[in-house]
Amino acid sequence: MQTYTYVSKGKFELMEKPKPVLTHERDAVVKVTLASICSSDLHIKHGSVPRAVPGITVGHEMVGIVESVGSAVTHVKPGDRVTVNVETFCGECFFCKKGYVNNCTDENGGWALGCRIDGGQAEYVRVPFADQGLNKIPEGVTDRQALLVGDVLATGYWAARISEITEEDIVLIIGAGPTGICTLLSVMLKNPKCIIMCEKDENRIHFINEHYPEVLTVSPEECFDFVQDHSDHGGADVVLEVAGAESTFRLAWECARPNATVTVVALYDKAQVLPLPDMYGKNLTFKTGGVDGCDCEETLKLIAEGKINTEPLITHTYPLSRIEEAYELFENKRDGVIKVAVEC
Ligand SMILES: [Zn+2]
Ligand SMILES: [Zn+2]
Repeated sequence: MQTYTYVSKGKFELMEKPKPVLTHERDAVVKVTLASICSSDLHIKHGSVPRAVPGITVGHEMVGIVESVGSAVTHVKPGDRVTVNVETFCGECFFCKKGYVNNCTDENGGWALGCRIDGGQAEYVRVPFADQGLNKIPEGVTDRQALLVGDVLATGYWAARISEITEEDIVLIIGAGPTGICTLLSVMLKNPKCIIMCEKDENRIHFINEHYPEVLTVSPEECFDFVQDHSDHGGADVVLEVAGAESTFRLAWECARPNATVTVVALYDKAQVLPLPDMYGKNLTFKTGGVDGCDCEETLKLIAEGKINTEPLITHTYPLSRIEEAYELFENKRDGVIKVAVEC
């Protein structure tokens, strides 16, 4: 079968590999119908994910049809349409039982698919712990509507959940990339008083203004003053940092009011400075990332009910045979791209 493979630093290649088989009683093999490209795939390509194993098939956000299941799998069966979770988790360890599945202590736990084991930019993928990693797509929900459930929507939904947003809050979201927009969609479900999105890219600002006119948008340069002008208490009540750029961590806590919650979803290339003397007395609560992707059943239900719609984020679609072009477009942010779907 055709797979898109991490060959070495800077090099991904479309190559032929044998179709995966079940290797454990809790595995499933899924025929991938639609996969997507994530900025984490680019991080692997550029060598900034040291645990990524050369030779693996990349791709960790996908939907498909269950092809076969191991003898211990009970929640899904061949023929089911499913989303695949970016995280592999056992469901049984201390962290899994508390819902902190990102810290699953199983040796395969955490982000394995498309990083340490073969992922889904391929015709088929083997999914360990299939009862945990696969969720059935409800009838009436299309593959395109469900495509982002296992990764970027899981992240946005988790970020909104842990941020403890109330209807009185001014919420600032920094970064309007795919994860930032999924965070926005999840924050909107909490009905805060006002949502401000900070983004520097014109195309993304345009996308937000067009699709979510009730959301205020601002550039990073004007963000601090803009948030002050819209707040009665010297800053945002909740800040979600989803950009991960050079100066956005500082912007996040500077724009927060005293006693605010600052949720850091972003993955940084470099260490960030936490200048405690400067923020003394501000009494902030920081929450930091790594998605616990265990709400997929709930987000699929919200999609089925029409309360979350991530389909507009998929701006481009390519067949697997032309995945190189898809990467080129995504990487260079050409043509107003937000998300690319790959038909496998
Ligand atoms: Zn991802
Ligand atoms: Zn576990």
